[in-house]
Amino acid sequence: MIKAVIFDLDGTLYKGKRAIDGASDTLERLRSEGIRTIFLTNAATRSRESMAQKLVGMGIRASREEMYCSSYFLARYLKDNHDGKKVFVVGEQGILDELDGAGVEHVDRGADIVAVGLDRRFTYEKLAKALAELQNGAMLVASNKDGTFPTEEGLMPGAGSIVASVETASGKEAYVVGKPNCYGLEIIKRDCGLSNEEIMIVGDRLDTDIKFAKRCGIRSALVLSGVSKKSEIKDLVPDYIFETVAEFSLPSGP
Ligand SMILES: [Mg+2]
Repeated sequence: MIKAVIFDLDGTLYKGKRAIDGASDTLERLRSEGIRTIFLTNAATRSRESMAQKLVGMGIRASREEMYCSSYFLARYLKDNHDGKKVFVVGEQGILDELDGAGVEHVDRGADIVAVGLDRRFTYEKLAKALAELQNGAMLVASNKDGTFPTEEGLMPGAGSIVASVETASGKEAYVVGKPNCYGLEIIKRDCGLSNEEIMIVGDRLDTDIKFAKRCGIRSALVLSGVSKKSEIKDLVPDYIFETVAEFSLPSGP
């Protein structure tokens, strides 16, 4: 039986700065039925707190405890697996805030680890600095490899575009904490005391959300309000399809 529904954010609950119609109603309906609501985003430009506030600002009730961002996963991964190591960050405030929150030191040089996320002030100089750290033996981790993300003005280059340049320069492959890798699901399951059978994900991207569900073994619903279209469904087939999150409801039965 499904006890928790994980919602992707961009393209699923909002688009740019606007909530998708009915998003809040669906969340409140599930909560009133005793279903746990969880938010999962590959975005790393904000911390959990800041991302929850963004939802609240759009009229969607959300708490820090329900919010899982790849900025948080980066900090958690480094704290749990590489405690005491120093990190050079190619990214924005969200990663720095989460590293500070976890007590992970970030430095300008002499790093053990290079952590990469979306950085809208990315420069050739930053790339050269990251390369120097990696050549000196630093390990490479990344928030996600999404090539693009949707905005009101159309698609913009995503973290994956920046990760690719760091990988190309260094010849190293990044360990990715975001979707479609299963690291985030393991954290959510541990934090919330849930098993795979009790979790469903709702998302708008076949190549991240639905791939994540298939790879990690949870049920999935695709919404057609974001990036992926129904005609693009081939090998990654969602269990359910809804026009938007407004129509989402849990399947009856086990
Ligand atoms: Mg999305």
